[in-house]
Amino acid sequence: MNIQDFIRDIPDFPKPGIIFKDITPLLANPKALISCADQLTSFCPEGEKIDKVIGIEARGFIIGGMIAERLGAGFVPVRKKGKLPYTIKSKSYGLEYGEDTLEIHTDAIASGERVLIHDDVLATGGTAKAVCDLVQELGGVVVQCNFIMELDFLNGKDKLDVPISSLLNY
Ligand code: AMP
Repeated sequence: MNIQDFIRDIPDFPKPGIIFKDITPLLANPKALISCADQLTSFCPEGEKIDKVIGIEARGFIIGGMIAERLGAGFVPVRKKGKLPYTIKSKSYGLEYGEDTLEIHTDAIASGERVLIHDDVLATGGTAKAVCDLVQELGGVVVQCNFIMELDFLNGKDKLDVPISSLLNY
């Protein structure tokens, strides 16, 4: 099954010059969705114990949850500012224009827990780097960041000093 067939390019969304990689056709197709989650789960090194899978709001929640179920791990949401109800740790990071903030519950990762981080797209890497920092500040170990796709021309990998896997490269 070719996952690429289920990724739709939307030019100039959310602003001019950006080609948005729309994963909703993938999410809507049961076989493609299962295949994508299976393949991303198989990227997790054999015998590597994962305690928690983090999904990054919002598109990382769906397949992140499926990977957690497949690995027998817990699921942890990392959310945009102001959405999580309990005590939080926050990290602000630079966007192309301005700044954004991601948050995690302080009790979501225990010291020493082994964590897999999932999101749909690795672009400039600022988002994934912020999440890696949050996990490490809580005492967790980032075993892998995995993505449905990587936008190679934005060099997001250079920001991350953890293992990275993705299904598709653009
Ligand atoms: P970045 O921090 O630049 O790596 O951006 C990654 C985050 O922005 C991810 O949560 C993606 O969902 C989203 N994102 C960035 N660029 C795109 C794109 N071209 N298409 C879809 N989502 C994107």
